[in-house]
Amino acid sequence: MSSPSRLRLGSAGPLPAGDRTETHPVAQATDTGRPDTGNQETGADRAAGPSALACFGDFIAALAGRRPALFLDYDGTLVPLAPRPELAVLDEAVRGTIRRLSALCPVAVVSGRDLDDVARMVGLEGLVYAGSHGFDIRGPGLRTQIGQEYLGELEGADIDLRARLAAIPGTLVERKRFAIAIHTRQVAPPDKPAVAAVVRSVAAERAQLRVTGGKEILELRPNLPWDKGRAVLTLLDALGLSGEGTVPLYLGDDETDEDAFRALSGRGFGIRVGDDTSGTAAQWRLRDPAEAARFLDRLAGRLAGS
Ligand SMILES: [Mg+2]
Repeated sequence: MSSPSRLRLGSAGPLPAGDRTETHPVAQATDTGRPDTGNQETGADRAAGPSALACFGDFIAALAGRRPALFLDYDGTLVPLAPRPELAVLDEAVRGTIRRLSALCPVAVVSGRDLDDVARMVGLEGLVYAGSHGFDIRGPGLRTQIGQEYLGELEGADIDLRARLAAIPGTLVERKRFAIAIHTRQVAPPDKPAVAAVVRSVAAERAQLRVTGGKEILELRPNLPWDKGRAVLTLLDALGLSGEGTVPLYLGDDETDEDAFRALSGRGFGIRVGDDTSGTAAQWRLRDPAEAARFLDRLAGRLAGS
């Protein structure tokens, strides 16, 4: 790894004093004092952790004056899931919010997408991008690639998969640099087990690769002990963000994000995006990408001291 230069830290500093002590009763009011009727909590919801939006004041209080370092998944977190990856386009307003945040605190986008793909979709310079679940990292003065010796094996698996899955309609095989994604969203439900069987069979023939799964996706990746959690911890060190003055925040919606939630346990906060937060290691939640956008907007406003 090359030695990292500093990210654009902008005018970031300790939070305004008022943020450190502010707390609000759960689900009664927002930090602005206005009822947030769209985010009423129920007892069942609370078991999965409070909403970082409905309980924004509590969330800010939990930061205890420390500066956030923000790690953002892309699909299902910043944008709604789409039938095809290229259709998951970032809303211009959300892009603007991320741009504002990047001037206030370190921001990294951590995605299962290819590095160039996710960087293009987000379309902002000066951020850190971690593609292929953190196997492929690039940022200002920073470049790390994990598992380059596995590229030949991925190439062979890609050819095998395309040949064996061609007969199953709707299957989309997407070659990424450090992974092969098999999208099943457009596969007829009765055919999905057959897709999974082919993927597992191809993986079984190649000990250098392993299968991981997510929402309507199977992936073959290098069989290395590496994931989004390890990528985030590596980034914290590389960017000089391991000190007590920084609190890492990770927003994600999927199983692969749970690795990051677990990795940050005890030193930061995970925020699970989505309706189903059962079994998550995240301490906070947001209902969907729209809520995540509102949360990020309010976080930007708070960090800017407005
Ligand atoms: Mg996601």
